[in-house]
Amino acid sequence: MRALTVIPNQTGSLEVSDLPEPQPKANELLVEGIAMGVCGTDKEIVRGEYGWAPPGSERLVIGHESLGRVRSAPSGSQFKAGDLVVGVVRRPDPVPCGACAHGQFDMCRNGRYRERGIKELNGYGSQLWCVETDYAVRLDPSLAEVGVLLEPTTVVTKAWEQVRKVGERAWFEPRSVLVTGAGPIGLLAALLGVQQGLDVHVLDRVTDGPKPDLVSDLGATYHHDDVSTVVGKLQPNIVIEATGAGPVVFGVLENTGSYAITCLTGVSPTGRTLSIDAGSINRDIVLENDAIIGSVNANLQHYRDGAKSLAAADADWLNSLITRRVPIEHAADAFQSAPDDVKVIITLDRA
Ligand SMILES: [Zn+2]
Ligand SMILES: [Zn+2]
Repeated sequence: MRALTVIPNQTGSLEVSDLPEPQPKANELLVEGIAMGVCGTDKEIVRGEYGWAPPGSERLVIGHESLGRVRSAPSGSQFKAGDLVVGVVRRPDPVPCGACAHGQFDMCRNGRYRERGIKELNGYGSQLWCVETDYAVRLDPSLAEVGVLLEPTTVVTKAWEQVRKVGERAWFEPRSVLVTGAGPIGLLAALLGVQQGLDVHVLDRVTDGPKPDLVSDLGATYHHDDVSTVVGKLQPNIVIEATGAGPVVFGVLENTGSYAITCLTGVSPTGRTLSIDAGSINRDIVLENDAIIGSVNANLQHYRDGAKSLAAADADWLNSLITRRVPIEHAADAFQSAPDDVKVIITLDRA
């Protein structure tokens, strides 16, 4: 079977390898891969900047955004052949820390967790893969074309859960949300905002390409003005930040109103400096009871909730988020950015 592999931390090592078919253990599903999604983390791994191979092997099978169809399931499990499934990315650390011991491996305290396709565990970028039944999530059969969007959806499902929990520390009846960044994470965050009945706004710098239409097709409002102007004018109750760009993050923090909750989901490059009035930002955060939360990854509950959100969404809209589908034999193309890319996926079906 074909699998997409790299030698971690070695630029130019991406390869479509021929690997033996995996043999499922007693608690595992054997799954025929349909597609893997490509995100910034995969691009970093392919550039040789991130990633860890499984102990004892040179190469790592990449792919953490998965979709497949069950070929065989252990008897007595909740799964059967033909089920559409996604595999969970993270596994709890072996110690385990208190969070991992409570099933909250997305909140791991000691960093010793492992992740499929990223850290010490082979990923889902292969034509066949195995996954423990406890870390597989079944999708509605209608999601065969778009179910690969579940993993990024879990990231925003968790972000929204965190926003709600922080909001509910006092009176909280939010009406509006601003999402900064109209990539897959931003657009899926906007989808969940619409599903909650909020007035949803999305800010990005582009003025053409698919993003403005994707936002308006959701029933949300697209903005491309300067972030300070947009936040100052809208005064959103909630901001979900998905660019990771320093000037956008601080443009938000400087301009939100009272009791604003800002959830940061974008990972920035380090080493860039920005001149800010730290005293003024601190003063605003204190005097307005503002809250700023970082959020990453997702646990099993977020996968189950995310699967419901996808099943409830418009399938054509989800399909239009996937702007390129690259067959595994040409996988290298998927890591080259094209101007109108929103979500790029690699298809894994056998020819
Ligand atoms: Zn990802
Ligand atoms: Zn842990």
